[in-house]
Amino acid sequence: MSSGQRRRQASDGAEEAAVSARLPQVSPHRGLLTGASVESAGDDRRQHRRHRRRGVGANLSATKFDIIYLAVERLGFSVCPDEDFVTPYLIWSDLGVPPDRISELRAHQRINHFPGMSEISRKDLLSRNMAKLARVLPKEYKFTPRTWCLPGEYSSFLQHSRELRKVGKLRSFIYKPANGAMGHGIRIYKNGEQVPCNGVSGGGNGGFDTTGPAIVQEYIAKPLLIDGFKCDLRIYVLVTSCDPLRVYFYNDGLLRLSTEKYADPQKCESDTLYMHLTNYSVNKRSENYAKGDDDSTGSKRSIRFLNEYLQKRDYDVPLMWRNIIDLLVKTIIAVQPHLLQHYRMCRPASPPGSDSVCFEILGFDVLLDHKLKPWLVEVNRSPSFGAEQPIDRRVKLGVLDEALRLLNIRASDRARHANAQKVQSQRRLMRGRSNGAENQHQHQHLQQLQRERELVRRREELQAQLARLRREADRDEHEIRTCRLFRRIFPGDDRVSQERYVKLMLAVFGALTPGRGAGSGAGTLKELEEQYSCERPRQEELMDQLARCEEQLQQHQQPPSADASGKLQNGRQHQNHRRPWQRHHPPQSVQRRQSSLTLSADEVDDSADDDSFDDDYNDAVESGDRQTEAKLEAEGADDASGRLPSVSSTPTLTTSTSTTTPRRRHTVVAASGAGRSRGVQADRSGGIGTGDQQEAEQLCRRMLDQLNELCIRFPGKSAQQAEQVLAGLHQNWRQNKALVAGYWLAKLDADKRRKVIDIVRQNVRATLSRCWRSGADLDESRICRLFDRVFARLLSSNGQGLWATFGNSASWESALLRMREPPSLPELACCRRVVQLCQDCLLTVFLFSGQSAAPSADVGASPSTLSRDSGSQLKRERPSLSVGFTYRASLG
Ligand code: ADP
Repeated sequence: MSSGQRRRQASDGAEEAAVSARLPQVSPHRGLLTGASVESAGDDRRQHRRHRRRGVGANLSATKFDIIYLAVERLGFSVCPDEDFVTPYLIWSDLGVPPDRISELRAHQRINHFPGMSEISRKDLLSRNMAKLARVLPKEYKFTPRTWCLPGEYSSFLQHSRELRKVGKLRSFIYKPANGAMGHGIRIYKNGEQVPCNGVSGGGNGGFDTTGPAIVQEYIAKPLLIDGFKCDLRIYVLVTSCDPLRVYFYNDGLLRLSTEKYADPQKCESDTLYMHLTNYSVNKRSENYAKGDDDSTGSKRSIRFLNEYLQKRDYDVPLMWRNIIDLLVKTIIAVQPHLLQHYRMCRPASPPGSDSVCFEILGFDVLLDHKLKPWLVEVNRSPSFGAEQPIDRRVKLGVLDEALRLLNIRASDRARHANAQKVQSQRRLMRGRSNGAENQHQHQHLQQLQRERELVRRREELQAQLARLRREADRDEHEIRTCRLFRRIFPGDDRVSQERYVKLMLAVFGALTPGRGAGSGAGTLKELEEQYSCERPRQEELMDQLARCEEQLQQHQQPPSADASGKLQNGRQHQNHRRPWQRHHPPQSVQRRQSSLTLSADEVDDSADDDSFDDDYNDAVESGDRQTEAKLEAEGADDASGRLPSVSSTPTLTTSTSTTTPRRRHTVVAASGAGRSRGVQADRSGGIGTGDQQEAEQLCRRMLDQLNELCIRFPGKSAQQAEQVLAGLHQNWRQNKALVAGYWLAKLDADKRRKVIDIVRQNVRATLSRCWRSGADLDESRICRLFDRVFARLLSSNGQGLWATFGNSASWESALLRMREPPSLPELACCRRVVQLCQDCLLTVFLFSGQSAAPSADVGASPSTLSRDSGSQLKRERPSLSVGFTYRASLG
C-alpha cells in the first residue's frame, strides 16, 4: 500500500483511533507510535512541509490527522523531523504519553496529554471514580448512568437486575469493553441476567472479542430524539494546566445522529446498533447514513442547529447549557487530584503557576434525555480529528486553532525559561552564601539569625506569590485577546459558582485520596483553598507586604545610613506627589537594592516576559466591564479617533524662558556605571568628553531638575486646575483605573498610543536640548538612547508597558538594569521621571477626551462622572487637543 493510500485511510480518524488504541503505547520520543505512523513518517508531503518553514517547531510524528498539520502550519510553526524531540516547542501524539517522557520535557515544551487523565478516559476508571464520588457527594455526582465493572462487580449487578425484575421494572443495559472505542464490542441487553460475566469471545458487535475487563451500564431508554433519531453531543474541552487548574469549554461542537429511528429496546424486537449507537464510526456503515448539505441536515450536525431546534420547541436551552457546563467542570474536578499528583511527580521542580508543559483537548460525549438532562457517556482523551465532512473540518480546525493560540507558544519561551532557571540557581547560590555569612557571625544572637531567616523566607514566599499573580494576570490578558469560542469554565468568572466548585474540589480531594504526593493531606487542602480562593490578596497588597518585609530585613541587616543618592531616586516631585498607585512601591532602599542587579522573582518574571501586565486591566475588563470593552472594540477606530481628535503629531510645548534653565550646557554622556568604572569615553559629540564622571553626573542631576520642573498643561486650564484634575483622578484611582485601562489598552490603537507618548518624547527632547552643547549629536547621547528604550518599553505589548507602571511593575527598570551597561542612579532617576510624565500625559488625554465628550463637566469633576458616551455630540464639537507640558517656574 502506498503512503498516499495509507494516509487517506488514516484520515478516517475514527477507524485509526481504534487501531492505535489497541496498539501498545510506545513513547513518541523513541520515534513512533503505530505501524501506520512510522511508515507515514516517510510521507513526501510531510518532508516537504518540514523544510518549508523555520521558527517554532512542532513534532507531529505521532499523529495521523491532517488537520493537526494544517492548524500548526497556520500558526506559523515548522514541522520538525520525526526523531527530533528536543528542539520542538510542541509535541503532539494521538496516544497517551508515559510519565517519564513528561519529566524529560524542557520547561518551554508542550505536549498534548496530562499524565493521569486515563482516570476519566478509561470507561472502568471513570465509573469507579464516579461511583466513589457519588457515595460521598450524591447530589453533585449523579450525571453518569449507574455502572458496574465486570467481572468484579458482576454479582452485585445481577442482584440489582433481579430485584428490578421482581418489582416488575423492565430495564435495559449496555455492555462495553473497559478500554473500547468507536462502539466496538458494545451490546444492548433487555434482560440483565443475560449479560455475560466475562464478555463474549469473538461474539460481540462486529465479531469483536469482548472478553476482558468491561462495564455494564443502565441504558438511557428515553433519549432526546431529533426527527425521531437518537443523538449525542461531542463537546470539546481544553485543559491548559492542572497546577492550578484551568479549563475551557468550546462553544461549538458536533451533534451525531443514529441512522435508524429510535425505539425503546424493551418495546421493540430490533436491537440493531444503528438505532442505539450514535458513533460516526458505527453509523457510517449504514446505508441510511446521510452526509448533510450543511450544518443542519444529515447524520452529523452542528450544536448551533441543536440550539435552534430546541428553541423552536420551547426547551430551556440556556439551562441545558448551564447543566452541561456544570457536568464538564465536575468531571474535570473529579480527575484533578490524579492530574495534580501525577504532574507534580513528573515535574517536581515546577512551582505552582509556572507554565504547564502539558495540555489536553478532551472530547466529551454527552447524551441528553427526553427532559434535556445531560448524561456523561464518555471522555475521549484523543478525540478524532478526522475531517471527512466540511462540518468536521470547520469545528475541529476551529478547536485546534484556538487551543494552540491559547497556549501562547512563542519563540522567546526557550530563552525566557533558560533565563528564569539561571536566576533561580543564582538565588540558590546567594542563599548558600548568606548561610556562610551566618556562620562567620556566630557571635550574633541566635534569635536574630532566626528572625532574619524567617524574613528571608517570608520575602521569598511573597515574591513567589507575586510572580504567580503576575503570570496569571498575563494569562488572563492573553486569554481575553485570544478567546473567541473557547470560554474559561474553571476558574469561572462567577464568584458564587467558583466558590462552590472550590468547595467541591476540596471534598473530591478528600474522597479520592490518590495515595501520597499531592494527595489530600491537610497541607494540600489548605494550599488549594488559597490557590483558588476569590479572597486572594491582590498584587498591590502583596507589593505592600513585600515592601514592609524588605524594610524589616534591611533594618535587621544593617543600621540605616544616609544615602546621598536618595534624592535622586525619585526626584523632588515624586516625593511630594506620591500617587495612589505608587503607595505600595518598595521603599527607596529596596529600589536601590534592585538597581544593584539583585533581581527578585517578580522582576524576573516581569522582565522575562514582554507581555507583563497588571491585573488592573482585568479589572477593567472583568469587573469593570467586559461589555464596555466589547463595545469599545465594536465602536471601532473611527470613533476612537473621535475621542482623541487631534493629538498632534507635533505636540505643543510652552517653551517659556525658564528661569530654571541651567546656563552651562553639557552633553549627557558617560554617566553609566560602566562609564564610571572605565572612565568616560571620548565624546564624539564634541561635548565635555573629559572623562569627568562627576561632571557627567551633575549634568544628569540638572537634567533631572529640569524634568522635575516639567508639568502637564491641560488645554484650557491653568496649571493649578490641571493639578486638581489629576489629583481628583488620583483620589478616585481605584474607581477610575478600569476606565483608564479600557481607554488606553482597548480604546486607543497603536498609532494613538504612540502619539500620546510622543507628546512626552518631544518635550523631554526639548528639555534635553536645553542642556546640550550646540553642535553635539543629541541622538547619539546615551541618555537619549536610554529614554528611547523607556518609550519603546512603555509602548510594548499594545501599551501594556505603560499600563504596568500604574500597577507598580518595575519591569521597564529591570529591562534597563539588564543592559550591558546599566544606567547609573541619576540616569535611572531621569527615566523614572519620564515614566511619570508619560503617566500624567495619558491621564490628561484620557480626561480631556472624557471632557470633550461631555463639555459641561467641571474642571474639578471626578473623572468617574465624565460621560464617555456622547458620540453624536462629540462629532459636532470636536475640540482640538493640545495637551503639552510647561515648566512650573513659568506658570503664573
Ligand atoms: P465507545 O467509546 O465505544 O464509542 P461509548 O460509551 O461512547 O462507547 O458509547 C457509544 C454510544 O452508545 C454512545 O455514543 C451512545 O450513543 C450510546 N450509549 C452509550 N452508553 C449509553 C447509555 N448508558 N445509554 C444509552 N446510550 C448509550
